[in-house]
Amino acid sequence: MKKMIWIALLSALLLLLCACGTAPKAPIRKPVSSDTLYVKPVSTLPEDFILGVDASSVIAEEQSGVKYRNFSGEEQDVFLTLAENGVTHIRVRVWNHPYDKDGNGYGGGNNDVGKAVEIGRRAAAAGMKLIVDFHYSDFWADPGKQMVPLAWKDMEIEEKTEAVYQFTLDSLKELRDAGADVGMVQVGNETNGALCGEKIWFNIQYLMQAGARAVREIYPEAMVAVHFANPESGAYADYAKKLDYYGVDYDVFASSYYPYWHGTLENLRAVLGEIADTYGKKVMVMETSYAYTAEDTDFNGNTIGEGSTVVKNYPYTVQGQANSVRDVIETVANTPGGIGVCYWEGTWISVGTDSWEENHERWEKYGSGWASSYAASYDPNDAGKYYGGCAVDNQALFDAQGMPLESLKLFALLRSGNELKPVPDAVEDSFLTVDLSDEIVLPETVNAVMTDDSREPIPVSWDASAADLTRMHENGPARYEIRGEAGGLPALCTVNMVEFNFLTNPDFETGDLTGWSVEDLGGADELYVEDKATDSLDGHWHMHFWSAGQGTIEFRLEQDVKELKSGQYKFAVSVMGGDAGEHEVYAYARLDGEIVGTAPMSITGYGSWDTGLVKGIDYVEGQTLTVGVYVRCAGEGNGAWGKIDGAMLCSGE
Ligand code: CA
Repeated sequence: MKKMIWIALLSALLLLLCACGTAPKAPIRKPVSSDTLYVKPVSTLPEDFILGVDASSVIAEEQSGVKYRNFSGEEQDVFLTLAENGVTHIRVRVWNHPYDKDGNGYGGGNNDVGKAVEIGRRAAAAGMKLIVDFHYSDFWADPGKQMVPLAWKDMEIEEKTEAVYQFTLDSLKELRDAGADVGMVQVGNETNGALCGEKIWFNIQYLMQAGARAVREIYPEAMVAVHFANPESGAYADYAKKLDYYGVDYDVFASSYYPYWHGTLENLRAVLGEIADTYGKKVMVMETSYAYTAEDTDFNGNTIGEGSTVVKNYPYTVQGQANSVRDVIETVANTPGGIGVCYWEGTWISVGTDSWEENHERWEKYGSGWASSYAASYDPNDAGKYYGGCAVDNQALFDAQGMPLESLKLFALLRSGNELKPVPDAVEDSFLTVDLSDEIVLPETVNAVMTDDSREPIPVSWDASAADLTRMHENGPARYEIRGEAGGLPALCTVNMVEFNFLTNPDFETGDLTGWSVEDLGGADELYVEDKATDSLDGHWHMHFWSAGQGTIEFRLEQDVKELKSGQYKFAVSVMGGDAGEHEVYAYARLDGEIVGTAPMSITGYGSWDTGLVKGIDYVEGQTLTVGVYVRCAGEGNGAWGKIDGAMLCSGE
């Protein structure tokens, strides 16, 4: 009996020792507070919710000379800083062999297993778990490409399956031996219908199964995740069905969610919730991010930034970044089976020199850019051509000097919230269309985006003198950008000077069909005036149409004009849209019911406006002139959709 007790005590002691050796206790955390960051609490956030940050490029960044600091401005291990601010998991990508035959790294952090081991060890020391993201490729794998590692390129599927198993097994053993606290392992990255050079699910599933088997052996407590992109595509239900059909062993169905491209949060919740409900799986957002500034900081242009057409809902500010991420977290927390959100590359910042040339040297030498020139030997068509620095430095959670942004505190403040008095954080752009003969009346107020993401009109002053306005009148039709200031923030008003427009409500800015009549000839599921500046040619509003199926959509939108002076007139109107299939779209003019002119238009894609111009309309006083646009689309893909805006009826040839 006594002996038994001693053995038990000894085992307990041993366990304790082991535990100390492999999984250090989390450091004691100071409470996080902020005087400026507004955080609306997410009251439904579960205690064990994963608040992750992908920090794959940290080692290459540090080798390039980057110093990360804490909020006091002192140099500090970046993993400790992340942990102190509520981050629970670090995600790291693993490429099989991101080096050319001479050992030069392909870039993107040169993330081989060795890098993951070091990151895993440091994350564990800071008390965080690791999410391991196997790409099963030598370089970036995403919906655009899933290239097989060079060493596996001639393998048949049986051999490749064994290779995936062995590589996963060996990598995880190394991580385990180094003390990494692996909480989750991804078998593939954004594997939309392809993985490791395989393009049919019959083969893909073997590879996923092999990866999962290795995870279960080495880290039986860890979750196995599959990861896809494009929740807006409608393909997730099919992926989940295939995974179920083949009996792939996984725990988490993970999605990327970039607000610029990946549809609405409502849709994200719906598609992930359906998978959780149908198959009893956990779900999460594995990648999200948002720009805190439009500025580039490393002389390598960014995917989102100045001149980018996508400003979705949040301004490019530190607060806008925090609000975007907060809303993604709330959405996942409120989704059935939702277990977490991981921020993508929160630590990938400028390597910090004053010139492109010097930065380029570091990107090449340490792999701290998105790709080096050496990647050409593996991926000649993309990385080999467009290699360079960081394209997401304006979406990091640290500034260009390595100081943490206030938005990093979001993770620690989510539960309690930090509901300060809202103040203006950014100003929405204003639009104005003015007839050349009319007075230019610039808006007296603009919409401020408040720190709590509400909108509030605030007074504005514009940098435009009376002389400037006179010049704008005299210069004929043209577009001007007028700068201003509101609540201490920069404001912008785009003024479109146009010839006298005889139409009522030409840009739909009344927010309804005032002046217009619509004849719905069938097939439209949506046909209305819509408020969305990013989809408008002028101002905030436009006429919107959409058909859910591939059935024909057909309608006429027109306006009667009377009491014009006799003379020659011209009519113009613009359209853009997509999935139109075979279509007939034209602008037209009728005099007392007789067509006197038409101008065809094409629907060719988002943001591609086509203008139809009907010239030489000879009007005689007393006639009724009708101008309008006719639309008929057969539809294809997700069904025809489009936007009509910027109608003009002017005198002249
Ligand atoms: Ca950049």
